[in-house]
Amino acid sequence: MPRSNRRRPEPPDDSLDRLLNGWKRTETRRGASWTVQPVSASQAQKTYVCPGCGRDVTPGTAHLVAWRADGVMGDAADLAARRHWHSACWRIA
Ligand SMILES: [Zn+2]
Repeated sequence: MPRSNRRRPEPPDDSLDRLLNGWKRTETRRGASWTVQPVSASQAQKTYVCPGCGRDVTPGTAHLVAWRADGVMGDAADLAARRHWHSACWRIA
């Protein structure tokens, strides 16, 4: 498929560079290490499904994005599998 047929371009603020270079922290959850990075309300421009509650993380909602930090699948695969969480859902997960 030609890339020009994509419905909309990726927003630049969701780039891997931002994720890799932005401020983030490491947390341990369920026996695994996770890289956690906050997403501000102005950066939240798409709708995601929160794995904690199964409901939408709507645009304009400050939340966080998390991915495995232990590198089992390699950094690129871990990043591709990142999930967007409501901040409260991540805290109680
Ligand atoms: Zn949630």
